[in-house]
Parts: sequence; C-alpha cells; structure tokens
Amino acid sequence: MSRDPCKLCEEPLEDDDHLLVCSACLVEHHAACYIANGITCAACGNSETPIDPEQGKVSSDSGAVEATTSGTGAVAASSSGSHPASGTGDVAASSSGSHPASGAVAASGSGSHPASGTGTVSGTGAVSGTGGADPSASGSGSFAFSAGSGYAPASPSADPQPVPVEAPAPEPTGPVLLELEDVVAGFGAMEVLHGVSLKVHEGEIVALIGANGAGKTTTLNVISNVVKARKGEVRLAGERTSGRGIQDTVRRGIIHVPEGRRLFSELTVLENLEMGAFLRNDKDGIQRDIKHMYEMFPILEQRKSQRGGSLSGGEQQMLAIARGLMAEPKLLLLDEPSLGLAPIICQQIFRTVRELNAKEGVTVFIVEQNAHAALELAHRAYVMETGDVIMSGPAKQLANDPRVKAAYLGE
Ligand SMILES: [Zn+2]
Ligand SMILES: [Zn+2]
Repeated sequence: MSRDPCKLCEEPLEDDDHLLVCSACLVEHHAACYIANGITCAACGNSETPIDPEQGKVSSDSGAVEATTSGTGAVAASSSGSHPASGTGDVAASSSGSHPASGAVAASGSGSHPASGTGTVSGTGAVSGTGGADPSASGSGSFAFSAGSGYAPASPSADPQPVPVEAPAPEPTGPVLLELEDVVAGFGAMEVLHGVSLKVHEGEIVALIGANGAGKTTTLNVISNVVKARKGEVRLAGERTSGRGIQDTVRRGIIHVPEGRRLFSELTVLENLEMGAFLRNDKDGIQRDIKHMYEMFPILEQRKSQRGGSLSGGEQQMLAIARGLMAEPKLLLLDEPSLGLAPIICQQIFRTVRELNAKEGVTVFIVEQNAHAALELAHRAYVMETGDVIMSGPAKQLANDPRVKAAYLGE
C-alpha cells in the first residue's frame, strides 16, 4: 500500500523514519515535521498530543522509560475512542479538495486558529478557511530537532561556576557555523525576506532583533526549512541546507525551539525530554543526557512526572529548551523565549541560555522582540526591518547606537 507523502514537507514517509500520528485524524507525519509545525497536525490543525507508534519500542528496553507506556497508551486509547475512524476520510478529502497542500500547511502552523476541531469536517474547514487570510501563519511555532553531534554535555563534575547574565562578550573567533546568503522567502505573492545575509560563528550567541512582523520568525523558519528559500542559500558548516527536507535539516543539527513553548502537553516532563531524542538510537547516551538536563534544570527533575501542560510558563520554556538540547544540536534556534513571561522569569531564561553557551559550548541564534535583554545576552546582533537586515555588529555596540536606542530600546 502506498503512503501519502508527509502533509508538511511533502516528502515520502519511510518505514525507518520516526513518525507521529495525529490523534484526531490519524494522518501520519515525520516526527521532525510534526514538531517543526508546533506540534500541530498539518492535515487537520489538531494540536493535541499525537500518537507515537515508536513509544512501545522505546519502553520495552529501559526500566527508566517504562513508565511512559501507560501514558502513551492512554493517549492512544482516548484519541481512538473519542474520534471515530470516519473522521480520517473526511479530513483527508477536505484538505486535498479545494485547498492545495501549501495552503493547509500555512494555516495549521498558527497558534491563533482553533486547532481543536478534532477530526471533523467543520474543524478542517475552519483551518483551511483561514489559510489564505493569514498565510504567514506557518511561521509561528515551528520546531526542528537534530541528531547532530555538535552538542557535547559537559562532565557532571565540571565546576558549577555561576555565570552572570552580562558576561563579557568575546569576539567571534570560531569558524562560521551558520551562513545565510541573500535569502529571499515569502508566502504566496508576499515576499517577506528580501535578501537576508548573516553569519553565526561556532560558540557564539547571535541575536536577531526587530519589530513584530519584521521577518524574524520567517528567518528562523527558512533556516529550519519549514519555509523554503526562494533565492539565496543557507549553509551549516559550509554545507548547503536550504532546499533540503525538514527532517534532513534536523539530522544535520539545526534545532528550532519554537515560539510559544510548544510542548507535548499531555506527556510528562520526562516523556517530553525523551521525545527530544527521537532521532537518536543511543539509549545509554539518552539516559545520560536526561540526567544532565536535570542537573542543568533542577526544576525539571522535581517536575519529571508532571504533564508538560501543567508547568508554569517559565518551566515550560526550560523544558522546551531542554527538549531541544536532547537532540544534540549543532545550532540552537530560539524563537522569542521571553514572550509572555514575567521579567524575572525572562532573566532566568536568559541566564540559562548564557550558561548553556558558556559551559556547554552551545551555539545559539536567538530571535527576540525584547531587544534590551537580547543585546545584553548576545555577543553579536542583527537588526531587521521589514525583511532586510539594516544593522549588525557587536551587541554592546548596537546597544549604544543612537538609532537602536531610539527605535528598539525606548531611550
Ligand atoms: Zn515531513
Ligand atoms: Zn490531524
């Protein structure tokens, strides 16, 4: 029986791919794509926790992971119980009928469209109807994972020196890790990025600041290939990544922590961390990294059996970042990590990012509307306005630039 291609990336679904199944319409996706789409079904817009057919396999081997079996079973059972099988056919028909695949994708990424029309025709209609009206929606909430080898956890015995948020910014000396060259991208007739060029060196924290709608999230989505570059090129460590699939991009080590702290809300903290490692097969390494995440984020260990959706906003952001780290990123993309969090929690998140960079050597490209905090955190920054990079330089220098002060720092 031939399978339909993945609804998000439109590439074939292979047996050895890690797939996730929408709990409402039962459509399969690459796990990388499901997560890249903000843990939202690209076919029907459902954003409840998907079914993971691999969970059974994982659980059978390790005592520590065994606890997840019942959780997953519960998810699967409740979804198949409450959503009749006939929903699948209806949804598939409606999404492939009057609405082209790209329209469906654009609609489903948005957090603002009610995605809980679980598998019914009306739910699908609502999603696809808004696809045209808000084509940029696919930008928000994207997430990619990686099985790259760039992230090497520090040994647990490493000296736990507190790292101040405002550590002195070293000059970028490492080789170029990420490079965007003259990237053009958009949605339908609308061009959002008009030729963006930027670089991130290994070991750097680089911020992209700018007003809402400047194209910051689209830039991240182009890097993770959720949005295709129309012109120009994206390279990771010199190798072209633009034009590749989402899953392939993830495998190369580009991990996208989405805006809005998209988690598997029905899964526990531990299960969310395990999902972060979905492209890895090294069970011992995964267990070791989970322990390491608990050392870096002690609150996650305290909450390990709690559902992701029950955590506070700050805890969810910690978990979203930790889940990203479980994929062993070469490059961590953070989309608005401070959004909607109280100032003191923001500070905590930014301090954590600084520590990850300083102690673990994680390279970070961060998009932030909070320019003040971003310029304190980053080594270098780019300022974006309506789809163009208009300024760049060391973050401290930009923070003192009169134009930046006036436009972004409220001074
Ligand atoms: Zn896919
Ligand atoms: Zn679905």
